[in-house]
Amino acid sequence: MSEFSVITLGCGSAKPSLRHNPSSTVVDFRGNLFMIDCGEGTQLQMMRSRLKFSRLGHIFLTHLHGDHVLGLPGLISTLDLQSTGGSLTIHTIAEGKRMIDDMLGYFARHIDFKINYNILDPEKEVIAFENHAMTVRTLPLHHRVPTLGFIFEEKPRPRHLDRAMCDFHGISTAYFNRIKAGEDYVKPDGTIIPNSRLTKDATPSLSYAHISDTAFDPKIAEAIGPVDLLFHETTYLERDAAFAIPRGHSTARQAAEAARIAGARWLLTGHYSTRYNDDEQFRREALQIHPRVITNREGLVVDLTRLP
Ligand SMILES: [Zn+2]
Ligand SMILES: [Zn+2]
Repeated sequence: MSEFSVITLGCGSAKPSLRHNPSSTVVDFRGNLFMIDCGEGTQLQMMRSRLKFSRLGHIFLTHLHGDHVLGLPGLISTLDLQSTGGSLTIHTIAEGKRMIDDMLGYFARHIDFKINYNILDPEKEVIAFENHAMTVRTLPLHHRVPTLGFIFEEKPRPRHLDRAMCDFHGISTAYFNRIKAGEDYVKPDGTIIPNSRLTKDATPSLSYAHISDTAFDPKIAEAIGPVDLLFHETTYLERDAAFAIPRGHSTARQAAEAARIAGARWLLTGHYSTRYNDDEQFRREALQIHPRVITNREGLVVDLTRLP
């Protein structure tokens, strides 16, 4: 089971290609799968990456362009075939709910699992999802249709217990959870042992930002914040920058600039235009601005706990 991994199922763009699948990414967080976008063929890509359908509970849609949503009818039909009565939550704008309801009216009329919708405002930053260990917040992007980025942030972890110090002070295991949560320990004689003497610093929390599709905007980059891994679309190379702004996309150089402004540790490329044959070109261009860049491909697994 992965603590926090990002798995690429598709990193192509709108035109079909034999080299790449259309957009889909899965965040595997402590055994639960959170999908971002669901381009055509996504369910087969899940099978290739050995991701179990039964672990998928949430789908976040960045926007309603075909290369990001046309895999939904197939995936939902399959979930229905395999269903044992679970539920799926789709996070999308109001128009997305109408679109999916229409599709399901044809392809999955009598599904026996529940689809919940979390309707998102495309203009506002909101918390789309939260549980005891993680939040997912939205970030409005600049594209030709309403589009949202999603930022997955692990909540602060408890401090590590210094077992030797606890034993030294004769503290019973019954107090350990309270000490991990930050409490001081009061001895029976009233002496206070400060928490800092009984614990060590917590493992740092991890974060992932998924920013696609968008034109470059330094304000968006600032709002991303210093994530550990930033997927930022790199549809074009800088030599074709003239296409990027009118089409609401970014170049590899701009994505690297966004990573620099955000203070992101690592940049992950993707949403490649079919006009290029060598995906390493995006990395090389981005490396001129940002020192740590990963070239995306289908099947890539980035384990955030192992990033240097
Ligand atoms: Zn796209
Ligand atoms: Zn798009």
